[in-house]
Parts: sequence; structure tokens; C-alpha cells
Amino acid sequence: MRKKIVAGNWKMNKTADEGLALVSEVVNMVNAEVTGDVTVVLCPPALYLTTYKPYLTGNKLALGAQNCHEKASGAYTGEISAPMLKSIGVDYVILGHSERRQYFGETNAQLAEKVNSALENGLTPIFCCGESLEMRENGDYLGFVKAQITESLFHLTDEQITKVVIAYEPIWAIGTGLTATSAQAQDMHFELRQHLAGQYGDAVAQEISILYGGSANAQNAAELFAQPDVDGGLIGGASLKSRDFVTVVKARA
Ligand code: 13P
Repeated sequence: MRKKIVAGNWKMNKTADEGLALVSEVVNMVNAEVTGDVTVVLCPPALYLTTYKPYLTGNKLALGAQNCHEKASGAYTGEISAPMLKSIGVDYVILGHSERRQYFGETNAQLAEKVNSALENGLTPIFCCGESLEMRENGDYLGFVKAQITESLFHLTDEQITKVVIAYEPIWAIGTGLTATSAQAQDMHFELRQHLAGQYGDAVAQEISILYGGSANAQNAAELFAQPDVDGGLIGGASLKSRDFVTVVKARA
């Protein structure tokens, strides 16, 4: 059985007080209301990870970072490494978000190194992939997304790849209110799982959780999560409101 995961990517949002209020609310609601089998990963700005760690108790709640550097340590001013994240109890790390690819020039080759560093340090990478609107309209999007996975993940062993979570996030759906339809999400997740099966075999591909991200919210989550290859969600805007986020979690539980 693949792991069901709902992760909240706060991006660069919330001051210290606002963030703490949100974490407290989400933790209380999850503990009181979520009975099913789902892992809830909160990915706040790195600044807050240490503060939030003690709040995330129990086996449903986990802590994630939004990025890490590919090197373990060194002269990289402003950066944070995978061993550092591990040392404060972080469990997951989002890697290759389209915003980091777009604004910080992250490449598939660099992301392969980040994935390695995360795995070497016992973190679960949430590896993001997804095409632009232009690619979707030109029709060459599937090859593009497959190449992201090939170039950043296909050097991993069978054992390593099963420790990676993939998040399919079409760029045209991120923060736009324009969600992929459940059929578009399912088609893509199915194709990506086939791609993984081509490299690692079907049994391994069936173990890898593939999350959908892009304007997923309290209204559309249940339909998205009902698709057989959609194992959960990576949630942006809707993760900033406790009730909305927990409604998404409950749609997956
Ligand atoms: P939105 O849910 O705000 O569209 O963001 C999705 C996302 O980028 C999560 O990583």
C-alpha cells in the first residue's frame, strides 16, 4: 500500500505569531478529527522548523523543509543543508519546486544532487515536477515531465527510489485557481508511474507515492484524491488556512 500524504507548502508566508497560531490549529484539528491513515507534512519557512518540531507529535504529523542545499556544509552563505535539517528533526524536504526552478535556476542535474543529499541524510524528498502552460498547449508536456524525473531520479537504486515522494505540479495550476481536472491529474500520474515502472519495474513503481499540487483546495480535493494514481496532495494557498487545509487532509484520510 502506497503512503497517503497531504503536505502543506507554506512558501514564504506567515510571521512568527501567525505561523504558530496556524500550526497549533492544524495540530489540534488533525488530532481531534482525522482518524484515517494519512501523513500530514507541514513545510513552513525554514526559520520556524525548530520552533514547530515539538508541536508535531503522534504518528500522523511530520515536519518538512521547502529546500536544501546539495552540499553537506561549507561556504554557501544563506543556505541550509540536509544534515542540518535532519539534526533538528525534519523528516521531509520539498525539492525542485517550480518556483525554485524558475526564480533560483535549479536544474535537473543539481536536483539529482539535492535528492542524493536528502536520502543520504535520512530525509524523504518530495520531488516536484510539472510543465508550463505553453508546454501543455504545445502538447509536448509529457516528455518534459518524464525528463525531469529521468534526469533527477533515475540514477537511484530500487531501494532509494521507493523512499522518494513525487509531486506533480503543473505550473499553470499553481496559485492560479486553475486546477487540473481530476482526469488530467490521473492521466499524468498514471503516465509517470508507467515511466517509473519502465525503469524500476511495476512492483517498485506501485510503491511510490505521487502527489498532486496546483490549486488543490477544500472543494476539489476529494475528487482529485479519488483517482487511483493520486496518492495525496502538495497544497499551497489552502495550507495557509487551518480549516481549509484540514478539510483537504480529511479528503485523503
Ligand atoms: P497552490 O496550492 O497555491 O496552487 O500551490 C501549489 C504549490 O505550489 C504547492 O507546492
